[in-house]
Amino acid sequence: MLSLSICVFCGSRYGSDDAYKKATEKLGRLLAEENCRLVYGAGNIGLMGTVAQNIQSNGGEVMGVIPEHLLEVEVGKTDINNFIVTQNMHERKKVMFMNSDAIIILPGGAGTLDEFFEVLTWAQLKLHNKPIIILNVSGFWDPLIELINHLVENGFADQSLKKLFKVVSSPRDAIEALKLTA
Ligand code: AMP
Repeated sequence: MLSLSICVFCGSRYGSDDAYKKATEKLGRLLAEENCRLVYGAGNIGLMGTVAQNIQSNGGEVMGVIPEHLLEVEVGKTDINNFIVTQNMHERKKVMFMNSDAIIILPGGAGTLDEFFEVLTWAQLKLHNKPIIILNVSGFWDPLIELINHLVENGFADQSLKKLFKVVSSPRDAIEALKLTA
């Protein structure tokens, strides 16, 4: 059993391929089976809602952190173990990060990218060494990985940047990657 607190960053939409939702459901179930607590943005929409619902329905614990101004927009999921309302986005990310042992990135949009780059750049600055796992469902994040390679190839980042995160292609592999770091 992993028994860790896992921060999941993912879309507030479902995306265009059903594979994203399916992988999110499976990740939720596997995290619950590993006695992991979900830390997420407390919304009940898109993949965010999916991951929370699937942890819950499999008996797992959920901490959600949402800024006041998004309570309605993102349909605050209040029926969770720990529902925290922050004053702003910065506070939200800080509280999520502080309460997590590792981070998993699922498919998502600009918000997910913002969250990923924040934890990546903090790792680059050696402010933390929490595992960051990109769950590359159906190659969704290939362009992101290509972009990071491009930064390195063009001398704007050190090779070591690529070692600060791990890319996996299935929820099961994400769990295995967590086990290697635990
Ligand atoms: P998205 O990937 O755009 O669907 O957004 C996923 C989540 O990230 C949503 O809960 C957004 O509210 C959140 N988000 C978007 N921008 C930011 C930001 N700058 N800081 C923190 N969270 C954000």
